[in-house]
Amino acid sequence: MTGSVPAPAGVDVPEALVDAMRSWRRDFHRHPELGFAVDATAAKVAGLLQDFGVDDVHTGIGGTGVVGVIRRGDAGSTPSIGLRADMDALPISEANTFDHRSQVDGRFHGCGHDGHTAMLLGAAQLLASDHHFAGTVVLIFQPNEENGRGAQAMIADGLFKRFPVDAVFGLHNMPGLAVGHFETRVGSMMSSEDLFEIVIRGRGGHASMPEHHIDPVIVAAQIINGLQTIVSRSVPSSEIAVVSVTEVLTDGARNIVPSTVTIRGDCRSFTEATRATIERRMGEIAAGVAAAHGAQAEVSYTSEFVPLVNTEAESAAAVAAARAVVGADRVNPACALWAASEDFARMLAEVPGCYINLGNGVDGPCGKSLHNPNYDFNDDAAALGVAYWVQLVHDLLPIAS
Ligand SMILES: [Zn+2]
Ligand SMILES: [Zn+2]
Repeated sequence: MTGSVPAPAGVDVPEALVDAMRSWRRDFHRHPELGFAVDATAAKVAGLLQDFGVDDVHTGIGGTGVVGVIRRGDAGSTPSIGLRADMDALPISEANTFDHRSQVDGRFHGCGHDGHTAMLLGAAQLLASDHHFAGTVVLIFQPNEENGRGAQAMIADGLFKRFPVDAVFGLHNMPGLAVGHFETRVGSMMSSEDLFEIVIRGRGGHASMPEHHIDPVIVAAQIINGLQTIVSRSVPSSEIAVVSVTEVLTDGARNIVPSTVTIRGDCRSFTEATRATIERRMGEIAAGVAAAHGAQAEVSYTSEFVPLVNTEAESAAAVAAARAVVGADRVNPACALWAASEDFARMLAEVPGCYINLGNGVDGPCGKSLHNPNYDFNDDAAALGVAYWVQLVHDLLPIAS
């Protein structure tokens, strides 16, 4: 499944730890939990952190988030970094039939958060007995990444006030990228996700007498067409954005012109300015088209995920650490923009940092796209993820010579 995997250089990841991570990961995979309700996963994480001898373990942060703290040296005068993993699964049924498949119908670790949690636990175990750094490592295990709610819940619960960090780092597995490879980029890397709903109110009635009605279906059709001009005419040609109408609902019937049509959809963009342009133009188009037909349109527009933006110095540190692990030619420091969204972006909106992708392989379940019912995290990549975390700690929290 993996081809040739380079041995992590610099950081020794013992075979026993690789075996332990596989076993933790497959246990999480068999027992997936959703959203904030990751109680058993969080309890297992907290118990393992305590077993490893991590200095402090805090539970219940932002609901079910867990934070482990490892201190070396004087906390007042040494730097501090946060390493973040996510613990939640997806509300879909797994199609795989292997031994460690989900034991819960309708729940599945289809994004590899089981692997992310296992890798950060692996790093915690190594760092708990590691004295080759000076500073504070804050291990952040967040709930509810998939709905874009867990990071903000932990931040609102004082994550960065109680556990201040100079920088924060995230890691995600990437199917389609060969094992032994990393990729990231400086600046915008992943998109925002906004949801919208436009309720169009007209005046319904008998389908045979349209002259007496204000048909909201016609208004909806013109608004949907109008929305296509936001990306093509209003967003700068140097920017990337998506506006998708995904649902159209009416309260009519085959022989009844409806009174109300509801349009729903999803927008993506990579900068706050483009996000704001989409929201503004959507409001103008909906109101203007509705007014032209004597109808009313109400727009609600909500931000689910913010754009993920990596800062320059921390991206350089992430690339250097990944290169130390797999070699310079296996780290892409300028990967393509990715129009998916990631809750870690909320942490990057508070603290400098970098998010990096780790190759999950190209074949079999590990090469299937994230959220595919046949996907699986690649246990053969876990040692590289752990080596990256530990390398990053050694690089950013050096012992003064
Ligand atoms: Zn996901
Ligand atoms: Zn994910």
